[in-house]
This record gives sequence, structure tokens and C-alpha cells, in this order.
Amino acid sequence: MMKRVYIADNAASAWNIKNLLQQCNIDSEVKNDQLYSVAGEVPVTECMPEVWVDTAVYERARELVLESESREDIVEPDWICKKCRETNTGQFAICWSCQTPMAGESD
Ligand SMILES: [Zn+2]
Repeated sequence: MMKRVYIADNAASAWNIKNLLQQCNIDSEVKNDQLYSVAGEVPVTECMPEVWVDTAVYERARELVLESESREDIVEPDWICKKCRETNTGQFAICWSCQTPMAGESD
């Protein structure tokens, strides 16, 4: 069984949470994130991206989510990915969309 562990403001933070959980070997699913590109008739509040995990790992996942939320109090500037031009929140060093590091490829 799956349980919702996080409701994100935007697709980027949902994917950031998924990445965070993945780093701790917790599988998760992001739901609703693609509705943003469909646009139009669905009110934003009804297509907030959600992160779901198995109930077996829910407690641990929830802890990690809360931890990451408390870390968000430290405001770091958003950055734009050099490769795909997506906006990323400052505390993440890797693009949520294409996994390119913030610094980009050094040349
Ligand atoms: Zn990118």
C-alpha cells in the first residue's frame, strides 16, 4: 500500500523530495506533476504534485521530508539549469529535471 508523504508547491520540489528519498534507498512516486504542462481547466490547488511512498517506509520517509523542510529555512537563491533552463531551488545542487550539477560541466 502507498501513502502520501508530501504535498509540494510545485513539480520541482516534489522531484527534489523524491531524489532525497532515493538517496536513502526509499522508493517513491510523484503524482500529478505532469498536470502542470497540461494547463488550463484544472485549478492549481487540485493538481498539486504529491510524493507517495510505501506504508512500510512511510515513517522514515516522513522524517526525511520534515528534516528537509526545516532545512529550507535557510534561503538560498534559486538557480537556472544551464542545460535545460529549469529553475531549481537553491539548496539542491543538481537539476531536478535533467540531473545536471548546478555548476555545470567545467571546461
Ligand atoms: Zn536541467
